[in-house]
Amino acid sequence: MKKIIRLHDKFFTRYIRSKEIQKVVKGLAQNLYEDLGKDEVPIFMGILNGSFMFVSDFVKNYKGNCEVSFIKLASYEGTDTSGVVNELLGVNEDLTGRTIVILEDIIDTGNTLAKIYDIFDRLPIKQIKLITLFFKPDVFKKALHIDYVGMRIPDKFIVGYGLDYNALGRNYKDIYQIKEASMKNIVLFGHPGAGKGTQAAILKKHYGFEHISTGDVFRYHIKEKTDLGKLAQSYMDDGDLVPDEVTINMLKDEVKKYPEARGFIFDGFPRTTQQAIALDAFLAKKGEQINGMIALEVPENELVKRLLERGKTSGRPDDQNEAKIRHRFQEYEAKTDVLRDFYAKQGKFYGVQGTGSISEISQKLIAIIDTL
Ligand code: IMP
Ligand code: MG
Repeated sequence: MKKIIRLHDKFFTRYIRSKEIQKVVKGLAQNLYEDLGKDEVPIFMGILNGSFMFVSDFVKNYKGNCEVSFIKLASYEGTDTSGVVNELLGVNEDLTGRTIVILEDIIDTGNTLAKIYDIFDRLPIKQIKLITLFFKPDVFKKALHIDYVGMRIPDKFIVGYGLDYNALGRNYKDIYQIKEASMKNIVLFGHPGAGKGTQAAILKKHYGFEHISTGDVFRYHIKEKTDLGKLAQSYMDDGDLVPDEVTINMLKDEVKKYPEARGFIFDGFPRTTQQAIALDAFLAKKGEQINGMIALEVPENELVKRLLERGKTSGRPDDQNEAKIRHRFQEYEAKTDVLRDFYAKQGKFYGVQGTGSISEISQKLIAIIDTL
C-alpha cells in the first residue's frame, strides 16, 4: 500500500498498518467475549459511516452468537467537528432487555458519544457497552464512560479503514495521518528579463527558501562541460527550450540536494504543461505541492531594453541579439503562457506588475506569499 495518499487538497502519510489494526480488533473482540460470557447474545450497533470496516472485522473475530445492526450519526465537516450531531438513521428494532455493544470507529471530542448515550439511555435495554477502535484523549471533553479502547492516538486527523476526509479515504486498509505541509513552493513566472532572478534572490533571503533557476543550473553544467551541459548547450544557443525530459531530471536532482528545505522558488521552471504535471507528481510523492504561481508582468519593449542592457555585462549570447530575444519571447508565449491556465484552474495563479522599484515589487510578492 502507498506511503502517501492525497485526498482532495490534503496529503496523508501511512500511520498504522492493517496488520496492527487487525491485532487490536481481534484483542477487543476476545476481551468482550470473555467479559460477557458465552450465554450472552449481544446486539452490536455500528455507528455509520465510519465504523463499517471495524464492525465487519470485529464480528468476524467474535466467538459467540451475536446480532449486528447500525445507526447513522454525522457531525464532521472536512477535518473539523461541527459540534452538532445529527441522527440520520435511528434504531428500528426492539432492544428490550438486550445487551447493546456500541462499535465506534473513533472518539474525538465525545459529542457523538453523548448523542449515543442519549439515544440508548431512553430505551429499556439490559446494559450498554461502548467500544471504540480509536480514541483521542487530548480532545475528549466529556465525563462519559468508554468500556474498551483499541488505540489511543494523538489529536491528528486520520483516514482509512472506514474513516474519511470529506467522504474520501474510507477504502484504505491502513490508517493514514494528516501531513501538515512543511514547505512553501512557489513558481516564479514571467518573460525573460521580467526580474525573476532578482526577485528570487530577495525572496530566498526573506524566507530562507531555496532558489532553483533552471537557466542558472544549465549554465553551470555548460560551464563545467558536464554531459548534461553539452546537451543543453546546443538548445540554449539557438534560444530554444531544452527538452522536457532533460529539464525535469535535472530539476529533480537539484531539489534532492536540499532535503531540509523550507520551500523552493522555481524560476524558469516549469515552462510547459508537461513539466508542470511532472513537477506536481514529483512534489506529491513527498506530500508537497506548488502553493502558488506568481507571474511578473512587464511590457515587451521594456523587456527588450532590459535584456540588451544585461547582455552587455552578462556575456550571455542569447541576451545580445534583439532577434534572438524576440524569438525567446515567441517560444515563451507559445509554450509557457498555457501555464497561467494550468495554475489558474487550481486557484494558484497570481499576477504582479513587474515594473517600478525592485523593493516595491518584492513587497507585492511577499504580501502574496505570506497568504499561501
Ligand atoms: P466526536 O463526536 O468529536 O467524538 O467525533 C466522532 C466522529 O467524528 C467519528 O465518528 C468520526 O466520524 C469523526 N472523526 C473524529 N476524528 C476523526 C478523524 O481523525 N478522522 C476521521 N473522522 C474523525
Ligand atoms: Mg463515526
